[in-house]
Amino acid sequence: AVSLAPHEDDGEGDVEMTLRPRKLSEFVGQARVREQLELVLHGALRRGDQPDHVLFSGPPGLGKTSLSMIIAAELGSAIRVTSGPALEKPGDLAAMLSNLSEGDVLFIDEIHRIARPAEEMLYLAMEDFRVDIVVGKGPGATSIPLELAPFTLVGATTRSGALTGPLRDRFGFTAHMEFYTSDELDQVVRRSAGILGVDLRDDGAAEIAGRSRGTPRIANRLLRRVRDYAEVRADGAVTREVARAALEVYDVDEMGLDRLDRAVLRALIKSFHGGPVGISTLAVAVGEEPTTVEEVCEPYLVRAGMLARTPRGRVATAAAWFHLGMTPPANAPG
Ligand code: ATP
Repeated sequence: AVSLAPHEDDGEGDVEMTLRPRKLSEFVGQARVREQLELVLHGALRRGDQPDHVLFSGPPGLGKTSLSMIIAAELGSAIRVTSGPALEKPGDLAAMLSNLSEGDVLFIDEIHRIARPAEEMLYLAMEDFRVDIVVGKGPGATSIPLELAPFTLVGATTRSGALTGPLRDRFGFTAHMEFYTSDELDQVVRRSAGILGVDLRDDGAAEIAGRSRGTPRIANRLLRRVRDYAEVRADGAVTREVARAALEVYDVDEMGLDRLDRAVLRALIKSFHGGPVGISTLAVAVGEEPTTVEEVCEPYLVRAGMLARTPRGRVATAAAWFHLGMTPPANAPG
């Protein structure tokens, strides 16, 4: 099945790898983050220090993994990749940490999902490049300190709010990734079309960029789906008409909203008269995990001006009612 959801793997990992920017200079958008990161990395390189630990937060598909790989490349270091859910036992983390060589980058995706004991081990590792390995049980247990090679931890999270204070405090540099503008996505798809050898026309690029939900991962997927359509049903050139017709097939609307985004808006409006409604109730109504609705759908719906967060719950804006072809009630936020 083809998935266009920003948080789902579409089984086309190889293509995603070839499209990944390799250098900071190839990385489109996020100008502030790029500039700050460049200073952090080059400052450390000049001094011959190990760069501070870095935390990236933001919705899925905005380039957190790409930036982590770029950090390692800029430092000329190796990168080891793991994720919060994979670090269930402190032993898993200890094994990972003790295998690092000097200067390595350790990337932990979904770092907010790391189990508590592993998290506590991480504090000491981040601060002193040391872990205490506990051997034995009960009163006879002893802890053996183990020196680690200096490394840089790069954490990525879709929920920086879910990180504990002590963990957050140990990152010297924290960057929040924002949704991309249409112009930036236009550059992303042109770059990808160049790599993939797609005949992408100006108006075709603009059409895809405008419907990519502010997300480079989606822009690249839409480009590949539109290319299929262009090759099978047209002459291979990706023009505006071809892009529109193809995106119709994949249920992406003019705003770039996908099926789940629209399901959330529909539930909010049709079942709850526009809200306010709590996120878990809304998630049940669309048959999704509350975290998916909160971390994947909601940020974009808020940014697109379709959904508002209020102390009493989520509310559909007037624009959301109009988007579904309905007249908003007088009290719908603007
Ligand atoms: P997740 O949080 O789900 O791991 P992510 O934010 O780490 O997602 P990446 O895997 O880094 O996202 O990026 C997804 C794809 O989007 C990459 O394969 C890359 O092709 C493309 N991409 C992301 N950011 C950029 C960018 N700034 N410039 C060009 N391409 C990008």
